Amino acid sequence: MLEDWVSIGYLVSAIFFIFGLKNLGHPRTAPRGNQYGMFGMAIAVVTTIIDMNFFPEGIVGWTLIGSGILIGSLIGYTMAVKVEMTGMPEMVALFNGFGGAASALVALSETWKWIETTSPEPGLGATVAIVAAGLSALVGWMTLTGSLLAMYKLKGGVELFGKWWIRTPTWGPVWLNPVKALLFVSVLALIYLSIEDPTNTDYIWAIIGISCVLGIILVLPIGGADMPVVVSLLNSLSGIAAAFTGFIINNSVLIVAGSLVGASGLILTFIMCKAMNRQLIDVLFKSFGGSEKQELTRTKVGSDADEVAMMADGAQKIIIVPGYGMAVSQCQHQVKEFADLMQDKFDTEVKYAIHPVAGRMPGHMNVLLAEANVPYEQLIEMDEINPEFPQCDMAIVIGANDTCNPAARTGEGPLAGMPIIDADQARTVVIIKRSLSVGYAGVDNDLFYEDKTMMLFGDGKAMMTDLNNAIKDL
Ligand code: NDP
Repeated sequence: MLEDWVSIGYLVSAIFFIFGLKNLGHPRTAPRGNQYGMFGMAIAVVTTIIDMNFFPEGIVGWTLIGSGILIGSLIGYTMAVKVEMTGMPEMVALFNGFGGAASALVALSETWKWIETTSPEPGLGATVAIVAAGLSALVGWMTLTGSLLAMYKLKGGVELFGKWWIRTPTWGPVWLNPVKALLFVSVLALIYLSIEDPTNTDYIWAIIGISCVLGIILVLPIGGADMPVVVSLLNSLSGIAAAFTGFIINNSVLIVAGSLVGASGLILTFIMCKAMNRQLIDVLFKSFGGSEKQELTRTKVGSDADEVAMMADGAQKIIIVPGYGMAVSQCQHQVKEFADLMQDKFDTEVKYAIHPVAGRMPGHMNVLLAEANVPYEQLIEMDEINPEFPQCDMAIVIGANDTCNPAARTGEGPLAGMPIIDADQARTVVIIKRSLSVGYAGVDNDLFYEDKTMMLFGDGKAMMTDLNNAIKDL
């Protein structure tokens, strides 16, 4: 009887996960999607606790469970409250890694218990258990180390690693790929050896060690502009690791939830590849994404807020191009105020051009602008907005760099082939950033030096505030 209730509990939580994912598909319904997901997870946790405590062979004790929930909740709550909006991408990467590690640890403890208590002989049962445990270890530990490195790179590790990792394209294809292949084949060989000799735990430690190295060398050579693909792939891998672990502990909700995360992460990975005009296999194995950061020798005279306000006065159509710098300076409210002022005072049409990889996480710009109550209808995807730039009087680029860098059209360097926002096609371009420095991919941007470009050097929020004041004074 209780077993039936447990199954129903898992089924209900799986239904909540599916509805949650569906609602996450649109910014307007995303908060509800999150709530469904949280609710589904709460049901899954309670059901699991009931399951563990009413079937004697699985009892681990309320004290341990309660302490785990308390400590985990406190850490999660503190991190979520403390994290800055600009730190969200790193936190997402860290959580991906923790997800992979948690699945791998559960799989490890179950496998260990199984070996200790049953001293298994080679056979079909052992083969199934070891293949699931081996794959869970491979994906889980690889996700942990890969995600930690991705987090470090998102945090600006590019600077700390300096020229070392960013130069990898030259050595990546030459010897690294055979190493990746060799390590991968070694893990498969170790799984095979484990099947032959299930009680030998040395194989498990070797699989864990190699998987950790594999995660690092898979992410290490991937260059700045290709990082969005890696982050979404790691997200998918954390789900796949959970699904494998679900098989090991025979937990249906873990299989369902893991498969959902794995599949949705994979879809996101392919969306990111399409946005970057990349093949997944190229990103992972050709390692062409990095480049040495350039030394800047050119100069450009800056403009000021009054001059830009006067230019804006005559504009009938303005397109705002937000990027990572808007997230850093948190100026989305000032940007919205600017758009309102232009619409109310001069009847100017204002739209926002959203590049799929602007910022540091998928949907970063949408989240920020939604927080500032910018109507969704004004947020226009890149493919749709690009044909409008030739008729646009002014493009205002706020903290965007790689996503509007014409170097992407040249076919060379880390940005080669990436579709960009055609801000350079507008009649006048205003760029708000603190310096002439390069963006995340490390490529100098010719757009800064064009005659029609006016540079407003300074922090995004300060510059937007000055610009708004100048417009109010007109
Ligand atoms: P970039 O990272 O290319 O450039 C951001 C610019 O913002 C910098 O050049 C910087 O210039 C400026 N900036 C920083 N702080 C401020 C500030 N306080 N005020 C004003 N400007 C500021 O931004 P994009 O959004 O154009 O491109 C995103 C890049 O990140 C792409 O290469 C993408 O591939 C990568 N990426 C994206 C992920 C995603 O999922 N979206 C994940 C991982 C990487 P300055 O210092 O001169 O002010």
